[in-house]
Amino acid sequence: MKKFKITGVTAREILDCRWNPTVQVDVWVNNEIIGRADVPSGRSTGANEAKELRDGEERYDGMGVRRAVRNVNEILGPEVIGMDVTDQRKIDEKLRALDGSTDKSNLGANALAGVSVAVARAASHAVQLPLYRYINCNAHVLPVPLLNLLNGGKLTSNDLDFQEFCIFPIGAETFTEAMTIGNAVNNKLREIVIKNYGKIAANVGDEGGFATPIKKVREAMDCLVLAVERSGHADKIVYGFDCAATHFYNEETKKYTLEGVELTTGELLDYYKDLIKSYPIMTIEDPFAEDDIEGFVRATKELGIQIIGDDFFCTNPDRIRQRAPMGGSNALLWKFNQIGTLSEALDAAELSYRQGFGIMVSERSGETEDPIISDFVVGINAGQIKTGAGVRGERTAKYNRLFQIEEELGSQARYAGRDFRCAF
Ligand code: PEP
Ligand code: MG
Repeated sequence: MKKFKITGVTAREILDCRWNPTVQVDVWVNNEIIGRADVPSGRSTGANEAKELRDGEERYDGMGVRRAVRNVNEILGPEVIGMDVTDQRKIDEKLRALDGSTDKSNLGANALAGVSVAVARAASHAVQLPLYRYINCNAHVLPVPLLNLLNGGKLTSNDLDFQEFCIFPIGAETFTEAMTIGNAVNNKLREIVIKNYGKIAANVGDEGGFATPIKKVREAMDCLVLAVERSGHADKIVYGFDCAATHFYNEETKKYTLEGVELTTGELLDYYKDLIKSYPIMTIEDPFAEDDIEGFVRATKELGIQIIGDDFFCTNPDRIRQRAPMGGSNALLWKFNQIGTLSEALDAAELSYRQGFGIMVSERSGETEDPIISDFVVGINAGQIKTGAGVRGERTAKYNRLFQIEEELGSQARYAGRDFRCAF
């Protein structure tokens, strides 16, 4: 069989959408650059994510990644030169061994993730297949976009406690139609927030949703529902949140502070029950803090909707193995850089499917123009993607890649739609 030897690996420091540095990696095969990938970065991170390496120097307020870049150029790269680029698992194993820590903190998860996904892209080019097809010859499911139209939490400077207020156009026929619906709702929402809160209300947060100075969850939901009604697409749309509840939880008091009121786990669960009675909400991410297992188990059992673990799982196969069988959530938020290598992230997906879970592939709040997650979401037939509102280039890059994939798949493309948890 033809060999595709890695002949070079180079990294550089580039910028993400928050003007923070991040790592970009090129992988060379047979002396040609054929795989380039950028590493995204979170702000509302889980405590158990693999650790990015940041320089901690004065430049870029400590956020520089020159050390991670050096680790690629001087340690990780030279060690994978000579390996076959299609040997993803073996390469990832080598990267992990070179790092030697459990959380990738020695050489940096940003260094490892960059090499790992650039290798996958290079391999797909080497065998002349689109990346989604290289990952899976049965890739054919186009995801429902969870469109994050109003931002709060750590991704804005407003007072909304929940991080993401989203529409989920499950009633569209195609991915392309879903994006036209999203656009119609977003345009109506823009008019509503400007009318109700002034022009500044149309400024956007890190993921492109409006960062309107709204204070209450129900007030935000009412704006969103009105925009949906005015768009004329109400029959095709349900709603979802990323509560990112870790960030309004007090570890000492074991209470959540929501809109200034302290709530126990049980009281917050009752709050969710009431919300679900008022609005057609079908998916909630991180409704409780990352280690509030009781909260997650009860939410999964008692709310009867999709409960997604983000900070709760950190795309970590060990955490999925341990927590999924307890009934803590029924879906995984899949972020490759939370774990740091592609093969571990694919293990996390496989393990989740075997538990009967849904999977939503996700951006990070700090993204670049690299649309690699679009190939990943189709490659694993996940059926759901979260990559922000379509008003910022680093977000549209993902949607634009999905249009291309939908066209390439032609009659074989299946939009997950109402079957977003299992589109088969
Ligand atoms: C999230 O919490 O789901 C998210 C996308 O934010 P971040 O990338 O900051 O973790
Ligand atoms: Mg989240």
